[in-house]
Amino acid sequence: MSDIQKAAGIIQEGGLVAFPTETVYGLGADALNPYAVAAIFEAKNRPTFDPLIVHVADIRQAEILVHRFPEKALKLIEKFWPGPLTIVLPKSSLVPDIVTSSLPNVAIRVPNHPMALELIRESGRPIAAPSANPFGQVSPTTAEHVRKSLGNKVNMVLDGGPCQVGVESTIISFVEKEPVLLRPGGLSLEEIEFIIGKVLVFKGSSDKPMAPGQLLQHYSPRTPLRLIPTGEIPATQGKSGWLGLQNPPSGFAVVEVLSQKGDLKEAAANFFAAMRRLDEKNLDLILAQPVPDQGLGRAINDRLYRASYKPQK
Ligand code: AMP
Ligand code: MG
Repeated sequence: MSDIQKAAGIIQEGGLVAFPTETVYGLGADALNPYAVAAIFEAKNRPTFDPLIVHVADIRQAEILVHRFPEKALKLIEKFWPGPLTIVLPKSSLVPDIVTSSLPNVAIRVPNHPMALELIRESGRPIAAPSANPFGQVSPTTAEHVRKSLGNKVNMVLDGGPCQVGVESTIISFVEKEPVLLRPGGLSLEEIEFIIGKVLVFKGSSDKPMAPGQLLQHYSPRTPLRLIPTGEIPATQGKSGWLGLQNPPSGFAVVEVLSQKGDLKEAAANFFAAMRRLDEKNLDLILAQPVPDQGLGRAINDRLYRASYKPQK
């Protein structure tokens, strides 16, 4: 029996499997089994108001989870599935409430990774999967990241090497009349707008969000992370680490450069692993500089802002 067949059996029996996708590693369970889905929330220590994305193998498998696909959603699906694009639509009665945190809408995508697709097909189930990390912490982009943080809480970890995209999917809601970007991610807004025209950008953010990507504090390392406004000279403090697109001025104990040549796709692929390496160096402070706010830069900046957020006491 292959590893994927074994993993598919675990999904069918209501267990948890961590698996690679092109964005980040997911913590998967049978989306139609509310008990299995409850185990995801428990393993991640994830608040139940934070809904999950359902992963399917193709649009046919998605059709049973919703009532209908609007025309613009179909255009995006045709162009970008499999890929880092999640579509939010009113859900069918087949989707358990626990998956959507009782919202009347469900988030769905087709991941672009052969192991993920094989797992979904082999199990014959849509798979609910958030990122495979404890809630609020840095997302995993290798199987080793998953083993370190959740290893004892999952039945199996499938290893498909490092994630190629490196940041979570872009989420577009088609619940209102016009499409709305709920979370910037691995597919750029420019590419989406090229296909369907203007997309509204959701700006609200709160402690009780409609979706977890909207939490003010998220993706956080244990080491304090401070953002340096563009153009400002970074003031190092004790043993400081640098996280930026390119080289910093001198004075840093540890330096993580996301893309020496300034390529935002390469930067996104390196982002979470770089943050983890800094977090393991016992630094007093991580100083991070926002990257250009275009293409995948939007997704990187979104995560940097949330990683640096400190709640007001
Ligand atoms: P994560 O678990 O961090 O990979 O992210 C799951 C993301 O899916 C969250 O950030 C939400 O923004 C989004 N999401 C999931 N379900 C829904 C839904 N029903 N409505 C809106 N957003 C959703
Ligand atoms: Mg996550």
